[in-house]
Amino acid sequence: MNNWTRRRFFLTSLTGSLVAGAGKLFASSLPSADAAPASGKRPVIISSLNGLKYLDRGMDILKKGGDTLDAVLATVSAVEDDPEDTSVGYGGLPNEDGEVELDACVMHGPTRRAGSVASVRRIKNVARLAKTVMDRTNHLMLVGPGATRFAVDEGFEETNLLTERSRLAWLAWKAKTAENWRPGLDSPEWKDPDDSKKMSQLFDTPEKQVWLAWARQVVAHPPTGTINCLAVNEKGEISGTTTTSGLAWKIAGRVGDSPIIGAGLYVDGDVGGAGSTGRGEENIKIAGGHTIVEMMRKGMNPTDACLEALHRVARNYNHDKKRLRKFHIFFYALNKDGVHGSAALWNNHYDKSPAEYAVHDGSPRTARCASLYDETVIED
Ligand code: ASP
Repeated sequence: MNNWTRRRFFLTSLTGSLVAGAGKLFASSLPSADAAPASGKRPVIISSLNGLKYLDRGMDILKKGGDTLDAVLATVSAVEDDPEDTSVGYGGLPNEDGEVELDACVMHGPTRRAGSVASVRRIKNVARLAKTVMDRTNHLMLVGPGATRFAVDEGFEETNLLTERSRLAWLAWKAKTAENWRPGLDSPEWKDPDDSKKMSQLFDTPEKQVWLAWARQVVAHPPTGTINCLAVNEKGEISGTTTTSGLAWKIAGRVGDSPIIGAGLYVDGDVGGAGSTGRGEENIKIAGGHTIVEMMRKGMNPTDACLEALHRVARNYNHDKKRLRKFHIFFYALNKDGVHGSAALWNNHYDKSPAEYAVHDGSPRTARCASLYDETVIED
């Protein structure tokens, strides 16, 4: 049982901006958001917001005339290595058994190839692993223990992906959801179930206490989180990748949209690319990446194509906001001319800032996402 009280407010986007300003997660020292451009600039690299501080790594490769897939991999590998990003790679929030399980895929526009891995344990750089599947096998997708074995055979290091921070958050989630993970009735430490007290006990040093508010949030609202990254070089070649630890506390073996070619990512070298972050189940049902690329092929601009994908997500719930407010989802798109755009289901969801994505076409900056619903959802 949990004692969390849950309150929900729908606020206007104006109020939402004020609320969200206080809780900005990323990019605090970087220039503020610009609107998406009407005309393109090349080279350009874009990603979900969590890639912002690493976009220059990809841009360096693009500027030297390097391959677009190498560029996006340079950016997302840095996010996979970063223990502070709890939605990707090392430090990602684990499944319900406490195991970090990663999903990723890549698409290389110039050669029209793809690779993918899912439910991979103990391997950090799964986007590179997806490329290795593409480069070194006659298959497209490897999953589970077979994918981990393949990684080890190919020289990837096996490592524990759980950081102390993500381990404590998992224990807090367990304590909230399972009586068995609290001191028993016969223990001197037994207390009437009280999640907030239990969490303070887990985060018992000043260093750990700085994670407490975050842990309360991720326990109350199992987060999604991922990086999608797309790049076009000067010649108009395009590639993309999506990599994630998926939905926190998921059932072991759950695969989201991130490794699904056509959902979490799609690239067609003649048109452009698109990807997604957020609740993968919704994206898979509308094949979002492919849908967006097909819209762009017909002449739609990237932002409108992302909004069209969101319309399809909302349509699957007959636009019932009571259900739709239970999740968030973003789409990102880049055409081969270098025009980019993004759209989010909500202007702002839970503690996140107004929806933004990251762009580097000369210097790294944020850009505002369009939103299907111009509202803020706050739930605690
Ligand atoms: N799309 C990912 C998934 O569903 C998670 C996320 O992007 O937040 O696994």
